[in-house]
Amino acid sequence: MAEHTTWDTVILGAGAAGMMCATQSGGSTLLLDHAKAPGEKIRISGGGRCNFTNLYASPENFLSANPHFCKSALSRYTQWDFIDLVARHGIAYHEKTLGQLFCDNSAKDIIAMLQSEMAQAGATLWLETTIDSVDHDGTDFSVTLTRQGRQHRLTTRNLVLATGGKSIPKMGATGLAYDIARQFGLAVTDTRAGLVPFTFSDARFKPISGVAHPVRATADGKAFEEAMLFTHRGLSGPVMLQISSYWRESQPISINLFPDSDPFETLRARRQAQGRRNLTTELASLLPARLVDHLAEQMDLSGNLADQSDSALRHLCDALQNWQMVPTGTEGYRTAEVTLGGIDTDMLSSKTMEAKAVKGLYAIGEAVDVTGWLGGFNFQWAWSSGWAAGQAIAQSRA
Ligand SMILES: Cc1cc2nc3c(=O)[nH]c(=O)nc-3n(C[C@H](O)[C@H](O)[C@H](O)COP(=O)(O)OP(=O)(O)OC[C@H]3O[C@@H](n4cnc5c(N)ncnc54)[C@H](O)[C@@H]3O)c2cc1C
Repeated sequence: MAEHTTWDTVILGAGAAGMMCATQSGGSTLLLDHAKAPGEKIRISGGGRCNFTNLYASPENFLSANPHFCKSALSRYTQWDFIDLVARHGIAYHEKTLGQLFCDNSAKDIIAMLQSEMAQAGATLWLETTIDSVDHDGTDFSVTLTRQGRQHRLTTRNLVLATGGKSIPKMGATGLAYDIARQFGLAVTDTRAGLVPFTFSDARFKPISGVAHPVRATADGKAFEEAMLFTHRGLSGPVMLQISSYWRESQPISINLFPDSDPFETLRARRQAQGRRNLTTELASLLPARLVDHLAEQMDLSGNLADQSDSALRHLCDALQNWQMVPTGTEGYRTAEVTLGGIDTDMLSSKTMEAKAVKGLYAIGEAVDVTGWLGGFNFQWAWSSGWAAGQAIAQSRA
């Protein structure tokens, strides 16, 4: 016989969004997860220091079929609200770059903070729990699960889908939120890997793997300026992760190796002053030497500066400022930091995250079709959407 208990709220997934929701929902709240510990992605994020938000977070930093959807939640629980929470818990942090806030110490501080807030709110956490099925009788949801070898049946008025996206299946990512959403008639947009390195079938960058350089990368009309890293398999580094979220298969990426300077003017001036200097030596004073070796092979660069006509220099600089390449693909969900797409925002209230057609069903975090840029934006979406749902649930009981 399955044990049967009743809860006000059951949250599926004890990640960033689920835990934030549990700190707000009040009443009897149960958080379920199949992992051994809550917030595993928080733990490994930001190289173990968790880039927990961004000073400049705004709706422009998010991708979604409906770019307006994220506005309400982001404006009601902002980066400043989360920073305030972090400060109240005495967690030291710093800005690394571009508004990205990281813990001084460890990402575990953020998990401990959320657990302490959950304990204060009286929420219960069940780990290593398998969710077997979910049903709805028109008023209440029932969840059947297996925990410590025993089957349980729960009844709840509010069910929150917070099991995240498909990124990094090795860490326990599943498509459960999408499956349950579909079961209740909610549309799910196409999903694909985002914030992910590019691959090339011919391993063309293997000889220069490890070389990094700041560039501007453009794809599908969107541009980012940050460091690019050549790898054994292709291209990575923050700029490539950012642009990967905008890239579609078979599209070219344009790379400007001189985002902040005019190489044509520089090389022309040097030709004037030091015409006998070697072209590749001069380029190696502007770009990493191993990259120049690679380019010299590809583009047949040779001779002295004085040998280069204006039009030859112009041609070379155009090529270096608009280096076009078409990646074969990406590393996919195996290493992607996020999943693009997800539960269709048309199905949800942007204020409460509740399904418009199914009272008491909520979806939050990465499971929803809202995806942030690299830089703390994805956690901010998890906090804001989790808070919005938690608050709405608390108010619905008032
Ligand atoms: C390596 C890496 C580094 C990252 N670094 C950053 C960063 O520094 N800053 C930033 O903003 N974002 C970062 N992200 C993205 C960020 O981690 C996610 O966007 C965020 O965790 C999403 O929160 P969520 O609560 O929606 O989902 P998650 O945090 O993924 O939580 C989902 C939870 O659901 C559980 N679950 C899944 N399927 C099931 C199932 N079938 N049954 C039971 N439980 C299930 C999982 O175990 C997990 O605990 C990073 C991601 C990765 C992979």
